[in-house]
Formats: sequence, structure tokens, C-alpha cells
Amino acid sequence: MSQRPPSVDAVLRHEAVALLVAQHGRPRVVAAIREELEGMRSAGPRSAAVSAADEVLARIAAGAGMRLQVSSAPSLRPVFNLTGVVLHTNLGRALLPDVAVQAMQEAARQAVNIEFELDTGKRGDRDRHLESLLQRLTGAEQATVVNNNAAAVLLALNTLGLRREVILSRGELIEIGGEFRMPEIMKRAGCKLVEVGTTNRTHLKDYEQAIGPKTGLIMKVHPSNYEIRGFTKTVDEASLAELARRHALPFISDLGAGTLLDLRLWNLPHETTPAELIKAGVDLVTFSGDKLLGGPQAGLLVGRRELIERIRRNPLKRALRVDKLRIAALEAVLRLYQDPERLAQRLPILRHMTRKPGEIEAQAQRLLPAFADAFAGAATVSVAPCESEAGSGSLPSDRLQSFGLAITAEGDKRKATAQVEALARACRALPVPVIGRVRDGSLYLDLRCLDDEAGLLGQLSQLALVS
Ligand SMILES: *Cc1c(COP(=O)(O)O)cnc(C)c1O
Repeated sequence: MSQRPPSVDAVLRHEAVALLVAQHGRPRVVAAIREELEGMRSAGPRSAAVSAADEVLARIAAGAGMRLQVSSAPSLRPVFNLTGVVLHTNLGRALLPDVAVQAMQEAARQAVNIEFELDTGKRGDRDRHLESLLQRLTGAEQATVVNNNAAAVLLALNTLGLRREVILSRGELIEIGGEFRMPEIMKRAGCKLVEVGTTNRTHLKDYEQAIGPKTGLIMKVHPSNYEIRGFTKTVDEASLAELARRHALPFISDLGAGTLLDLRLWNLPHETTPAELIKAGVDLVTFSGDKLLGGPQAGLLVGRRELIERIRRNPLKRALRVDKLRIAALEAVLRLYQDPERLAQRLPILRHMTRKPGEIEAQAQRLLPAFADAFAGAATVSVAPCESEAGSGSLPSDRLQSFGLAITAEGDKRKATAQVEALARACRALPVPVIGRVRDGSLYLDLRCLDDEAGLLGQLSQLALVS
């Protein structure tokens, strides 16, 4: 006997649906039931041959429930970053320390004095919460904060170089990623780029000769994500600062990944700090909050009081400002920098960067049996040395000796590429997706950034390998 599928109302009256309505709300449940019934109708005569029996209603309710579950899953989800890239832009860069997370929670739940002077009862400035910390940590006279470093660069150029020429070395005309290319940003900021020198060599006299009546400022950009080697020449900040001063021009430097302390304290390679540039006479330094600094996404501008004041008066500042959550997180992170001795324990990115290879290797050995079991029949798993990197253009040519699990597909070597991709896909399909790196025909899980070992092991049984 062939019958039409039941009505939406009939399904809605089924007892199993009450729970769905409580969870997801009536409109979404109705929509899911409609989709489910639509699916039955378009599936053709076989499934149209149904009655309105309880069993059918239950099946439709269950189908609707599945749809609701899938569509309710958050899009932004936690993952395991086992790529070996500590600051992975596509995986959200720096992990915040607990104190910063707590500060954000407090600020999120309650009203805060973000722009309110508690002593006078008057309107305040949101920069005030970070000002003195940044002054102390960078030696700069004044500081301000915006949405990210790209915004900081845009704002600095637009404030100090609008309708004027900006002198920059050809070797520093970089693309940072996405659409962020120095020449484009200059144009959008309303500045005219004047390139000096050549790709590999730029001399002080190149800058000097480019200075004219239309010059607005001299700029230097940290070539974060690449390195020019060999027959090269760049001009140091102190010489450029002196040149700029002689011509009464501002000299600004986009540092990119600004760490606030000398990383050699932790036996890591040296990366220029804002304090070093300020000391060398740079008038304004811009850097990121979520690269080596290890805080939330933000763009920090530190430098001469008069320049920061001008930047604060630019209407674009209002469009690029940071909210209370990020001010809360940034303040908490900056406070940690006041105690360098304990920083490596407290700041996740520094903790990860300074992990000893031997410790990571021991962790890999601990995880090996469970991984070998989980991949049995599909792949072999071994402990292997690998190289991590800071990421986000920080310390671009320095690699950190690390260890991981190398997962290599068994079977037909000609299908190796497809097989390793299948392994990577299976890892990404876990409840908390595991993101590794494919190299030399194997999937590498670099354990440098693994904190939640139990969480990783606990979900291995759900690995679905299609062979
Ligand atoms: C990363 C970087 C930027 C952009 O910083 P965001 O915080 O990602 O916006 C700008 N300049 C340099 C040199 C960088 O390395």
C-alpha cells in the first residue's frame, strides 16, 4: 500500500520531538522535520510507501534530531595544533595564559571602567589601561593599541604620511600574507611610496638622496617572513634615526613580531625588541600582540608622545580600536612580562618554544603504543625527530629541534600521496581535529605544542580509517 509521508504536525506531536523542541526551539525543529520529509518525498516511491505508524514518526523525528545536531555544532572549534608551527595564523596564533583568559571572562560578564576615570567620574581613554605597562616594557614615551598590526601600520602611515612621500628600501617591500602588501597599504593609507636602493642592497645615501620637500617620513619594515642572504646591505636604525632627525622627519619601524624581552634569555635566537628600536632612536614602532608577545590579536604602537597623540586624534583610530576583552587580556599578558623569570612557565607560546627536545621525545614515546594501535593495519607509527618553527613570520630562518610521531601508510607505494592524505583527513575528522603536517610521504604530528595528552589519547578510539 502506497501512502504519502506524514504531515509536519503529526511528527511534531510525537513524544520524541518534545525534547528536540526544548533543546533547539520550535522553529528550527519544524524546519528540520520539513527537510526530513522533503528528503523522503524526493527519495521516490520506495520510501513514499510509508504509513503514519509510530515507527515511521519516530524515524523522522530521529532524522530531524540528527540534522539539528549537525547544524548546531559550532563552526569555530578547538583543534590540536600538531603542525610544529607554534604561532599558526590559520589556527589562531598565540594561546593565552590562564590569567588573560580569566581577565577576559571578568570583563565579558561585567561592566568595566574601559573609558571611565574612577577618581573624577569623567570620561577616560581606553589606552590608559596599557600605557604605563608599555612605557615600562619598551622605554617609549607613549603607547596606543589597535585591532592588529596591519591596522597599526595603516594608521601610522595615514596619520604621519597622508599625501606625502614615504621612503622605504626596495628590500623591505614585503607581502606579509593575504592581501597585506606594503605598496598596497601605502596607497590605501594615502601615502606615496618612494622606493630606494635595490632588493639586496640599500645604503644611507639612497635614503638621503630621496629626501625632498614632499617627504613625510622614513620607514623601515622588518622582513618577517623571509631573509635576504649573501651580498646584502641594509642601514641600521640608529643611522636612519639620525638622518631623519637632521631632516626633521619622523622615522617609523614596523617590527611585526615584537617580543618584549631578549629571547636569548631562554637560549632562543635573538629577535629585535621594540625597546631596542626606541633606544636606537626610532620615533614610532608598530608590532603585533599575538605573535611572539603571546597575547591576544592587537596592534601596538609605541613611540614619541607627540606622534602617539596625533595618531589618537586620527578618526581612523576609532574604526580600528580594540574592545574591552582584548584590553583585559593584553593587560594581563603584559603584567607577566614584569617577571621574566617565571615568564616561560606562564606564557604558553614561550613555554612551547622553550620545550627541550628530550622532553618532547619522551612524550612521543609515551604516546607511541596508543597511536600504533589506533593505526594498526593502515599505517605504521614511529617516533621521529622533526623541526618546529615559531611561525607568523617570527624567527623565519630558525628551526627548533623537536620530536613527533611519523605516521606512514602501509601498502601500495604508488598510492602513497592519496594514502597519507587519507590519514591526515582521518585525524582532522576526530571530535577535536588533529592537525599535523604532511612531509616526505608521512604525516608528522609534532608534539611541541601538545598540552592535553589525555584528551588526545581519549579520542583515538574514534579514529575512522577507510582503507
Ligand atoms: C605580521 C606582520 C604584520 C601584520 O601584523 P598582524 O598583527 O598580523 O596584523 C605587519 N608587519 C609585519 C612586518 C609583520 O610581520
